[in-house]
Amino acid sequence: MSNPVILYILECKHIIPGTIGQAYAECLNCKPNAIRKIIDVHTWEWRVVCQTCNYRVWCGLSRKLAEYHANGHVRKRTRHDAQVRYVENPYGVKMKEKMLT
Ligand SMILES: [Zn+2]
Ligand SMILES: [Zn+2]
Repeated sequence: MSNPVILYILECKHIIPGTIGQAYAECLNCKPNAIRKIIDVHTWEWRVVCQTCNYRVWCGLSRKLAEYHANGHVRKRTRHDAQVRYVENPYGVKMKEKMLT
């Protein structure tokens, strides 16, 4: 993945996915075409990590989506140990550090 997606916190406090290096984002929670300033990064995300192979999926704020992907992986590859975790996204952490300096 050359352009990782991270979660931005906007000035309206909504959390919106975006790519690294954005300063503004459109907030669909407020209304379409509402361009908001990005004030922070939400670094914690649900993720599927398979202990058996290198299957990895970031699922943002949705634990349900992570469980869906984990179950789907185990159904296709029986005996694989796909686990759902709530972890910090290293790309998000890096972007947050950049914003603070
Ligand atoms: Zn908003
Ligand atoms: Zn696997």
